[in-house]
Amino acid sequence: MKVINPTTEAVIAELQPTDAKDLSRIIESLQEGQKAWSLKPVAERLACIVRFGELIQRNSDELAHILTSETGKPLRQSLNEIQGAQNRIDHLQQNAEKWLTSETLVDSGSTHEKIVYEPLGVIANISAWNFPYNVGYNVFLYALIAGNSVLYKPSEFASLTGKQFEKNLWQAGVPENVFRCVIGGGDLGQRLLEESIEGYFFTGSYKTGLHIARTVAHKLVPVQLELGGKDPLYVMDDIINVHQAALNAAEGAFYNNGQSCCAVERIYVSDTIHDDFVEALTAEVSSYTVGDPTDLKTYIGPLTRLQQLEVLKDQIADALSKGAILKTGGQKMDREGYYFEPTVLVNCDASMKVMQEESFGPVIGIQKVGSDSEALDLMQDTDYGLTAAVFSSDQKRALRVLEQLDVGTAYWNCCDRVSPNVPWSGRKHSGLGATLSAQGIRAFVQPKSYHLRP
Ligand code: NAD
Repeated sequence: MKVINPTTEAVIAELQPTDAKDLSRIIESLQEGQKAWSLKPVAERLACIVRFGELIQRNSDELAHILTSETGKPLRQSLNEIQGAQNRIDHLQQNAEKWLTSETLVDSGSTHEKIVYEPLGVIANISAWNFPYNVGYNVFLYALIAGNSVLYKPSEFASLTGKQFEKNLWQAGVPENVFRCVIGGGDLGQRLLEESIEGYFFTGSYKTGLHIARTVAHKLVPVQLELGGKDPLYVMDDIINVHQAALNAAEGAFYNNGQSCCAVERIYVSDTIHDDFVEALTAEVSSYTVGDPTDLKTYIGPLTRLQQLEVLKDQIADALSKGAILKTGGQKMDREGYYFEPTVLVNCDASMKVMQEESFGPVIGIQKVGSDSEALDLMQDTDYGLTAAVFSSDQKRALRVLEQLDVGTAYWNCCDRVSPNVPWSGRKHSGLGATLSAQGIRAFVQPKSYHLRP
């Protein structure tokens, strides 16, 4: 399997894909390893994960270069991701033992009742490439601490990083028959669905997630899906600093080249501030440093996937044909690598693909609105339900809108943000189940209830 650097379009590595025989052997060894691993005290499993975090931080420079080489993520953002993902480990260190301890609910009278949290067994983590540290950690660290063994299939666009997870986990003391990284694309993912696995934890597109849920439904094992979004931001007319709101919105839309599941994907702006907001946002986006992602000054690098260039071109052509106006960008860049100009479109409406379908790239559509109720109707007009944001100086007014939206995460005066303290979950086509927080660890255990009569 060839690994291509999206900046240079050169093949930077060739990896041996995991074949069917290897896969069966690996799963057998994970089944064996899980038994001993689950018997270890939580503190011992946790200590391995803490050591893993230390190794990753110690090697963050080298690991950031690997991530940038295979995804095109600007090096500064690769470093941010690696350093930021450590917050999951810190949070687990503070809470995991408490979350996994059995609970006694009735401890008097003739019957004692308690809950014990048992691991699922061997779980599969089929992952995405856009934030492999964040979305990987959300699953495999929590699963390991809960006593499962993990079959990790990184995206074919982040396989070198996946192999680094394996190397560092082993070095940190996680046994080789408890965590394994397998290499391959969708065909390997498909094979995993046919294997004897006790839970499927997937991050990726709605299309693949739906296919996975349908295919494994007959097994009646847990399936968790973290999928895409078309996340709206509404900028209200009472905002005090329009310029600052525009800068924050631009960051929410263009960080990681717009390739974030919770990136701002469409913006609704009150008519009274619309022109000032658009002017500030366009100036900001036009000023972004586009270039070699290994340069620490670069903010926009290439897209990770060649085929996404066509998706963006098509969305922009569709929007322009329906009356949108291009403020900046709009084209694939005439240079080596999968570069697309950071693009701002105004005069957009709900008939346009750019306001309905996930762009997953450096393109934002903006629509003017006349009232909160108009904005709410437009924000709700989507099959997705990952996040939604409102910028306003009035918390009550913002919450009145956010409370009515069918989303897993609501932001007031912030956006494109994930925290280990609170669950991360999508609704409708954005997913099923939650990672992070206490709920995130409960995803990897099954409760056993004891009724004891001494
Ligand atoms: P994708 O669906 O193309 O691929 C995801 C994974 O599924 C890859 O590892 C791929 O090899 C595997 N796969 C492909 N076909 C398969 C099959 N038939 N059976 C099993 N596995 C298969 O998605 P992607 O392009 O890697 O990721 C981008 C998408 O992920 C975007 O929609 C983004 O919004 C979403 N995402 C969501 C979150 C979240 O937390 N909600 C986080 C990151 C990314």
